Amino acid sequence: MVKEIIHDPFMLSLKSAPAGKEDLPTAADLLDTLKANKEICAGMAANMIGVQKCIIAINDGGNFKVMLNPHILKQSEPFETKEGCLSLAGEPRACKRYKKIKLQWLNEKLQTRTQTFEGWSAQIIQHEIDHCNGVLI
Ligand SMILES: [Zn+2]
Repeated sequence: MVKEIIHDPFMLSLKSAPAGKEDLPTAADLLDTLKANKEICAGMAANMIGVQKCIIAINDGGNFKVMLNPHILKQSEPFETKEGCLSLAGEPRACKRYKKIKLQWLNEKLQTRTQTFEGWSAQIIQHEIDHCNGVLI
């Protein structure tokens, strides 16, 4: 189900708890909400739809993925960039990212997945993991 996007900085600054089986409906909602906003948004975290759980959804070049408890195992090639956020008004803000990350997460069947992401996909994932940690750019 498509949910409303949260803009409250306080709600967005709370750290999300680990996600489990009971959160799979939220994962599905997050994917629906990202698809509904795909023209203006490449990724989303569950707290952006009001659920404080570590779940992110990304549009990886038209391939929509939902990830529970994503965490970065390895990162390399730091760079400075600017990012915007659907939850934050105003101009893009400066931040530091890594070009290449090795990520581990649980998929929608609660299977462990590990994959290396580069470039734009890696950047979206880092932005959404920050959301899970209550960090805003
Ligand atoms: Zn954001």
